[in-house]
Amino acid sequence: MKVNPREGEAAAGAWGVYLHVPFCRKLCPYCDFNVRIGHDALIPRYVAALAAEVRLRAEAIGPAVAASVYLGGGTPSLLSPAQVAALLRAVDDVLPIRGGAEVTLETNPGTVDLATLAAFRAAGVNRLSLGVQSLGWDGLRALGRDHGPEEAIRAVPDARAAGFDDVGVDLIFGWPGQTLEAWRADLEGVLSLGPDHLSLYNLTVEARTVFGARARKGTLVLPGEPLQAAMYREACRAARRGGLLRYEVSNFARPGREARHNRLYWTGAPYVGAGAGAHGFDPAAGGRGGGRRWWNEPSPRRWCALVERGTLPEAGAEDLDLAQAAVEEVLTRLRTAEGLDPGRFEARFGPGPALRLRRSADRLRERGLVASPRRAGAAVRLTEKGVILGDYVVSEIAAALDGPP
Ligand code: SF4
Repeated sequence: MKVNPREGEAAAGAWGVYLHVPFCRKLCPYCDFNVRIGHDALIPRYVAALAAEVRLRAEAIGPAVAASVYLGGGTPSLLSPAQVAALLRAVDDVLPIRGGAEVTLETNPGTVDLATLAAFRAAGVNRLSLGVQSLGWDGLRALGRDHGPEEAIRAVPDARAAGFDDVGVDLIFGWPGQTLEAWRADLEGVLSLGPDHLSLYNLTVEARTVFGARARKGTLVLPGEPLQAAMYREACRAARRGGLLRYEVSNFARPGREARHNRLYWTGAPYVGAGAGAHGFDPAAGGRGGGRRWWNEPSPRRWCALVERGTLPEAGAEDLDLAQAAVEEVLTRLRTAEGLDPGRFEARFGPGPALRLRRSADRLRERGLVASPRRAGAAVRLTEKGVILGDYVVSEIAAALDGPP
């Protein structure tokens, strides 16, 4: 198995740092994230509180460095470059940002121009994740986006001109009315811009969204499952042709441009989340063998008030036991191209769970859902069919781990 060099470093006190910025200009009808519209006046107070939470978190976790910083949201590109610079200084003061660390800013193409991008670069951001979602008016309108195709098309060359050599693009497929031809056009259009990274999101309809309400009324018509599966296969082929390799179910990259921050999530490494509704995870905490996960108060105002009082703004926490950690390991590792290493799994969870994993993988292999050579120690990986039925595969293995020996 290819070893991610960051993994060992993370265990030695290097943490991922996620900063949540919950402000957007307009609510997209499919969005279920913790976001607020029309709260721009709160941004200066929120940014100060973010810096304060980072200090509180650093005190709680002890000496550590930042292996990566990710400003996500929401629309973090609504912050000014000066605010982003202040946040990065605040992180660096208490969790020194390691040389060469990845510093990502999620960016809505409608909120930036060349000058702003250059200022973000000067502030210390070295990677952009551009929320393009579609390059056609049909897609952008169906998804309720607040930018047009020309802003998305301009964002990649502007990012290059601003000095970014690591630029990712996000696309959504499975939106109402989308055809395979429209999806091909999006893929070809985006790949012709030469991104280093491509993230694909299959539209899911969440109950508490505008799309959820339309689905309940029966007025939301999405492409059927076979068409969505064809779209995914088409994307894999197109990305390969464009020199981007699939390293995770939804993520493709030029070799060496895999998103390092996201890898921390998939490899069980520690990360600290700051901001309203942000999550964090410490694999060494909790005392039940599986680490501790926590999540923050979601309301930006209540979250600000808690931080300003000097308290960690947690809304809840969970200490995972080893059985829960085993399921997490299956869930996250199977999504990666490296797959699940049975030797590592056995070393951590013991021979019983490892045997149940092997038997379950054998059954799934016979159905063409996982590729796992019978030789001892071979990684368990999803096949293309297994990727499309990934939730089912994980639920089968999870049930087997929970079942009789
Ligand atoms: S821009 Fe992103 S975070 Fe903001 S509302 Fe749209 S989908 Fe949600």
